[in-house]
Amino acid sequence: MIYPKVYLKSGKEQSLQRFHPWIFSGAIKRIDGEPAEGDVVEVVSAKGDFLAIGHYQPGSITVRVISFVNVDINREFWLAKLRNALSVRKLLGLFPNPDTNIFRLVHGEGDGLPGLIVDIYGFTAVMQAHSSGMALLRSTLAELIVEVMEGAVTSVYDKSSGTLSPKSPVEAIDGYLVGGAKGDALYENGNRFMVSWEEGQKTGFFVDQRDNRALVGHYSKDAKVLNAFCYTGGFSVYAARGGASSVVSVDSSQKAMDLTTQNMVANFGQNPSHVSVCADVFDFLRDSEDVYDVIILDPPAFAKHRGSLNNALQAYKRLNASALRKLKPGGILFTFSCSQVVTRENFRNAVFSGSIIANRNVRIMHQLVQPADHPINIYHPEGEYLKGLVLYAE
Ligand code: SAH
Repeated sequence: MIYPKVYLKSGKEQSLQRFHPWIFSGAIKRIDGEPAEGDVVEVVSAKGDFLAIGHYQPGSITVRVISFVNVDINREFWLAKLRNALSVRKLLGLFPNPDTNIFRLVHGEGDGLPGLIVDIYGFTAVMQAHSSGMALLRSTLAELIVEVMEGAVTSVYDKSSGTLSPKSPVEAIDGYLVGGAKGDALYENGNRFMVSWEEGQKTGFFVDQRDNRALVGHYSKDAKVLNAFCYTGGFSVYAARGGASSVVSVDSSQKAMDLTTQNMVANFGQNPSHVSVCADVFDFLRDSEDVYDVIILDPPAFAKHRGSLNNALQAYKRLNASALRKLKPGGILFTFSCSQVVTRENFRNAVFSGSIIANRNVRIMHQLVQPADHPINIYHPEGEYLKGLVLYAE
């Protein structure tokens, strides 16, 4: 196939030779042909040598690379990429797995598919396109996901209205591309969860906390647990399963709190030792007089871009100080940051400052990361976003 050619400025081929999958607008000298947004283009050096094939999208990141090899971009190409993504999840024991039918099948650049996220919820795959190139392919991708998933997936829901740029010429209408609502029974490590991809945040569930939730379970025996920023109660269910004596779940979204209550009931029936509180966590921690054995802090990304980094670090510092004040002697704090621009070191420093403010002697017991079904392309460190610390406070 002949694709429109994007010529880079001399010297700008280096990042591509190191397999970084993004080409910024400033690296481009000229374009031969008139690609439309979302089209496949060939990227060549100033001398015209082949470098990569990618999706074209005028803007800061002008090309997202889908292949560093000169091949035709056709059905077989996408099929092979999706098959490879599934084979990695099989290696991880995530498919097929009767105890866990919630997992991430495609994690963008981490799976060599920039601009595409696919989460599996039982019979349903939920797809999010972050680029016009992937959005244009949605019908093909939906068919291929069904084909690759060996009969396990019969519905594909597209939820790209919040991820696709409002400037994209591709219209994003959330809805089923294949099949329809199924009402599947969904499990993560044997725990039952209700997931609403139509109305929930992200693709409906925070699939990335699976391993960290299991660790909370280990620390919860006979513990009084506070799950702050609980969303639909993922950590609360694991804490109760791990033998917590009581669990308090807090989130500012009433919808999230309703689902938290439903998830606790689905797993344990009516349980007076669980309390759902719809509140701002900062206010809750300031006003509550209770103290806990285990606290989980999993706030939303405080910094969405570099400009808000300093404010975000201040917020992490304040929040962690407040939580440490509510921890019993010998208590455990699980604290997370999912802001991509906050580095592991930034976050640890913010928690360090929070520990000083709270005047607590703190040991780091575990350093937590995103799970293996959210892999990081070694050439694209921007893909690393989730970090957590498990602290023991004397
Ligand atoms: N721990 C959750 C995911 C948390 S996502 C899980 O395992 O599924 C972050 C959550 O924080 C969202 O549900 C959002 O509604 C909530 N939130 C954002 N700001 C908040 C605030 N100031 N106080 C309480 N909840 C907040």
